[in-house]
Amino acid sequence: MATITLRGLTKVYPGGARALDALDLDVADGEFFALLGPSGCGKTTLLRTVAGLETATGGTVRLGAADVTRLPPGRRDVGMVFQDYALFPHMTVLDNIAYPLRIKKRRRADRYRAAREAARELGLDGLEGRRPAELSGGQQQRVALARALVAHPRTFLLDEPLSNLDARLRLEARTFLKRLQRRLGVTTVFVTHDQAEALALADRIAVMDAGRVRQLGTPAEVFRRPANLFVASFIGSTPMNLLPGIVRGGAVATAGAELPVPDEARGRLADGEPVVCGIRPEYLDYGEEPLDGAFRGTVSVVEHLGGSSLVTLDVEGGPVRVVVGEDLDAAPGTAGWALPRPGRLLLYRDGELVTAA
Ligand code: ATP
Repeated sequence: MATITLRGLTKVYPGGARALDALDLDVADGEFFALLGPSGCGKTTLLRTVAGLETATGGTVRLGAADVTRLPPGRRDVGMVFQDYALFPHMTVLDNIAYPLRIKKRRRADRYRAAREAARELGLDGLEGRRPAELSGGQQQRVALARALVAHPRTFLLDEPLSNLDARLRLEARTFLKRLQRRLGVTTVFVTHDQAEALALADRIAVMDAGRVRQLGTPAEVFRRPANLFVASFIGSTPMNLLPGIVRGGAVATAGAELPVPDEARGRLADGEPVVCGIRPEYLDYGEEPLDGAFRGTVSVVEHLGGSSLVTLDVEGGPVRVVVGEDLDAAPGTAGWALPRPGRLLLYRDGELVTAA
C-alpha cells in the first residue's frame, strides 16, 4: 500500500526557522492530497522532507510500511515535479524523461522504451527530439510529469506544478492532471497556495499554518465548515464574512440583526458570550425589500463576477459581502437586506468553530 504516514515531523532549519512543527499526517493509498496554506507555512519543506531532499529534525516519515526517514531520495520510490520543472536544458525531451532510469542503471533499450511510453501517455508524441527551450510552458510541464512518472513511483509529489502556466493553460493542465492521477491511481501530494486549485483537484486538503495542520478534510468540509478562523479567512475566493456578535437568549446579536443560534451550537454558549459569526457571501440571500431578521444596510460597491455580482452592503458595524444573482440589479446608494440561509451560519468562540461534536 502506497500510504504516507508522518508522525511528529519536525524541521528546524540551521538559521532557526521552524518550518514543520511536530506534524502528524496520513495520506491514503491512491489519494490526491493537497497541501494548502500561505507563503512560508511549510508546504514545500513538508514535500521535500517526504522526498528525502531535506532531513527531518525530528519525527518519522513512512511510505507504506517502510520507515524511510533516514533513506536518501533515490531509495524512497517517489517521483517529484518542481515548480520550475527543473528540466535539463541541454537534453532532449526523451533524454530528460529517461533520466531517472539512467540513474537507476536500467538498460539503455529499456530506458528508451519506458520513456517513449511515458511521452505518449502525456501527449508528447512528436516532440521527443526537442530541447526544453523549444517547448511551450504546458509541454514542459508534461515532460516534467513524464519524467517523474517514468519509473512508476508509488508516491508522486508535486510542488506548485501549475504556477508557471497562464490562466487558460492552467485550467487545462489542472483537468489533465486530475485525469492522469485518477487513471494511474498513484498516491499524490500536491502543494499549492491557490485554494481554488486545491478545492478543484484534491480528494482531501490539509490547510497549513506555521508548520502545523490547522484543518484536514474534503474540499466541501473545509469550504463549508472551516474549523477555525484561520481556515475561515483563508478558504474562499471571496472571503467569508466574519462579524462580531453577542449571544442573547437563543440568538446572536450581530451587525444590527438577531440570528438564531444554529442547532449544533445550542446549549454550548452562555448568555453574554462574545462570538464571531461566519457567513459566506454565497450563503446569504439578498433582497431589495425588507427581509425578516436580515442584515439591513446600504449598497456601497457592486463588483461584476460574470454570472453574478459581489455586493458590499454597509451594515451597522461594518461591510457584509453578498453574492447576488445576475437578475438582481443592486445599485450603490440604495438600501439592501441580506439573510443567511438556514444552516449556513457558523459561530466561532476563541477562534474555534462551536459545534456539538
Ligand atoms: P511558499 O508558498 O512561499 O513556497 P512554503 O509554505 O512552501 O512557502 P517553505 O518554503 O516550506 O514554505 O518554508 C517554511 C519556512 O522555512 C519559512 O519560514 C522559510 O523562510 C523557511 N525556510 C525554507 N527553506 C529554508 C532554508 N533552506 N533555510 C532556512 N530557512 C528556510
